[in-house]
Amino acid sequence: MMAVMRAAADLRFSERHLLGIETLKPWAIQELLDLADGYVELNRQPEKKRPLLRGLTQINLFFEPSTRTQTSFELAGKRLSADVVNMAVRTSAMQKGETLIDTAVTLNAMHPDVLVVRHEHSGAVALLARHVECAVINAGDGRHEHPTQALVDALTIRRRTGRLEGLVVAICGDVMHSRVARSNILLLAAMGARVRLVAPPTLVPTDVALYGVEVAHDMADGLDGVDIVMVLRLQLERMEGSFLPSVREYFHRYGLTREKLARAKPDALVMHPGPMNRGVEIDGTLADDIERSAILDQVELGVAVRMAVLEALTRELREAA
Ligand code: ASP
Repeated sequence: MMAVMRAAADLRFSERHLLGIETLKPWAIQELLDLADGYVELNRQPEKKRPLLRGLTQINLFFEPSTRTQTSFELAGKRLSADVVNMAVRTSAMQKGETLIDTAVTLNAMHPDVLVVRHEHSGAVALLARHVECAVINAGDGRHEHPTQALVDALTIRRRTGRLEGLVVAICGDVMHSRVARSNILLLAAMGARVRLVAPPTLVPTDVALYGVEVAHDMADGLDGVDIVMVLRLQLERMEGSFLPSVREYFHRYGLTREKLARAKPDALVMHPGPMNRGVEIDGTLADDIERSAILDQVELGVAVRMAVLEALTRELREAA
């Protein structure tokens, strides 16, 4: 934690892109979370607009559907006064066969300052970033990373418990297909939390040993004494072949219910990145219980975190102007 403490005084965020958590130092994560904290308060005021990104252009380019992430990036850019354009991929030239790199080069010629990109293939956002001059934010690439979601989750935990270091966090369900899990594992490890993956053997990534996490295949063992329970969506769209006997059986063994949650600490927090399958990975009434569930906090903090990321990535550009 030394690096974190030294950070505020003599280091500041100077990455060109935000492609993943993997390359971020703990002090940079802390800086983004601190910036976001300030925006949470702003977003609760009637007047939410700041002129910080006035004159800058942000293009949201989503090749996969999104509700929370795309809306929150749009709101974040608008609250900071950027000109925000949502490119509808389904009606764009991509449907006529234009390649990802052609699209990048074409958009680049319009001088955007920030591109927010979601793509179904891992690595596609980093590839695109190599062909543009502006800042690129990864809004989720395949099963690889979803860095702003991990920042949202970390801020949610930090605001509810006051810390990240030393917490035990269970990440439950379809870890194999989840970019959210990967980014969270990296972030939580960097900030000194302990991660336990709780999933059927078929949904644990084969390279799990590289992550330095604990693994449990049973909810009772996996949730024992944890501070935080993160539940993941079953990502059926990424499953080729059969990973589960049936959805009903899955809920019985891995769906989060009050009974299973009783193994965790009495005040353990329940989280889910959304979209949620009620009655599949989580019981709907538990998800709606505001005493236990931080799911709506995650949605609220999403806007603040994305404002913080936009501020940090455009800092040098704004200072040079
Ligand atoms: N919204 C998250 C993502 O884009 C989680 C999910 O889809 O299950 O990865």
